[in-house]
Amino acid sequence: GGVDLECEMLVLGAGPGGYSAAFRAADLGMKTVLVERYATLGGVCLNVGCIPSKALLHVAAVMDEVSHFDALGISFGKPTVDRAKLKAHKDKVVGKLTGGLAAMAKMRKVTTVRGIGTFLDAHHVEVQETTGTGAETTGKKQVIRFKTAVIAAGSQAVQLPFMPKDPRVVDSTGALELATAPKRMLILGGGIIGLEMGTVYSTLGARLDVVEMLDGLMQGADRDLVRVWQKMNTPRFDNIMLKTKTVGAEATKDGILVRFEGEQAPKEPQVYDLVLQAVGRSPNGKKIGAEKAGVNVTDRGFIPVDIQMRTNVPHIFAIGDIVGQPMLAHKAVHEAHVAAEAAAGEKSAFNARVIPSVAYTDPEVAWVGLTEDEAKKQGIAIKKGHFPWSASGRAIANTRDEGFTKLLFDAETHRILGGGIVGTHAGDMIGEVALAIEMGADEIDIGKTIHPHPTLGESIGMAAEIAHGTCTDVP
Ligand code: FAD
Repeated sequence: GGVDLECEMLVLGAGPGGYSAAFRAADLGMKTVLVERYATLGGVCLNVGCIPSKALLHVAAVMDEVSHFDALGISFGKPTVDRAKLKAHKDKVVGKLTGGLAAMAKMRKVTTVRGIGTFLDAHHVEVQETTGTGAETTGKKQVIRFKTAVIAAGSQAVQLPFMPKDPRVVDSTGALELATAPKRMLILGGGIIGLEMGTVYSTLGARLDVVEMLDGLMQGADRDLVRVWQKMNTPRFDNIMLKTKTVGAEATKDGILVRFEGEQAPKEPQVYDLVLQAVGRSPNGKKIGAEKAGVNVTDRGFIPVDIQMRTNVPHIFAIGDIVGQPMLAHKAVHEAHVAAEAAAGEKSAFNARVIPSVAYTDPEVAWVGLTEDEAKKQGIAIKKGHFPWSASGRAIANTRDEGFTKLLFDAETHRILGGGIVGTHAGDMIGEVALAIEMGADEIDIGKTIHPHPTLGESIGMAAEIAHGTCTDVP
């Protein structure tokens, strides 16, 4: 058949990677088409990821906070929860952002095409039109010819093969629907996504179990950070099962019956009203006809790229979750800008020294760059500045002084290599540490930067002064 639409830049998928690439390409003067199978722009992050989870976590954190106010002389009644209203609030937050994206696409004259895109060859994509809230096809097809393309088709939750198909077994997308109020909930996988959703359900009234194959929750973060979270959050859990395998599950009328294996596993199968599968996300690389365009895809579905985000086919780029870890929105956005600029002929390259990670639990856990564990493993000599929030006026005034801020410096050059923060708003603060690393700042640069008092952010300056040996505020 013929070609229905032509463009200089075709972007496949409208998540944080895809819309950022499309907007940058349009700003650089390229005629841009953005293909998305779902009704709204924003991808996983805006629709069923970062944003809706944070809308719910904010409500949960406020509920948890005021539940301790009795001791401050302020009493509230026991909160009642209207799940339908809370869900409507969450949907409104999402709608505001996805609506904003649609307006920005229009303003930039980015043509959005609704449908499932598949490569026909290295210059053509076929789009099967979709409709409704999901991705039901209408039967209509069109062919788009492109000069350059960016693949931003993202990832989806891994489903364990032995899990029964049952409304009481959900992934994060299902959990965000708030369809039920479980009494006993199992979180399968002790990573950030599972623990964030578990926090929400626990505050709404569920008792939690978590099962993790590795020897600790929130892998990747230093254990001293995680310990602070765990101490505050242990009361939410009946069982924290580490080094434990989930070996089977069946749907019964009383709940989902789950069997575990491992030293810390309960001998008897456990029954749950809700099981959240949060065992990782797998890239969509094998579902887009990439082979027809000659684009290499790994066995696991990732698309290898160079530092300009180019695949093995030089005019086809790939970004975001589909190119590999860490699967984070802020990484996707930066890669997107590089890809669009490189496609427009600029000499951009992705060379971020560090990418921050944040668990938006309560307290938050945030880290960036080198961790203490990695320093130990790699034999890197470091100097540490550890500032306990029990010495922070602001943290004490907030009645939340359980956290700490630590910075890791190169023992020889005194330049900052990494940092970790646990406590309320840790995620909002970690960007400063990332900036310091990118700028090659040392203990004195950070310690002599005047931070406003009293703030939690001050703890970063203090940690640097402690490392330098000039902090007078903490013994
Ligand atoms: P995606 O957001 O996955 O977007 C890909 C888009 O491509 C989708 O809209 C999909 O429909 C579309 N698509 C796929 N195939 C086709 C096709 N063939 N045709 C047309 N369209 C197609 N990250 C953070 O940084 N911070 C967080 O707080 C955070 N919280 C999260 C919470 C949850 C519950 C989840 C699940 C994820 C979270 N993430 C978070 C991760 C973040 O959502 C992803 O890293 C990010 O969305 C990746 O962006 P992307 O553009 O690569 O892909």
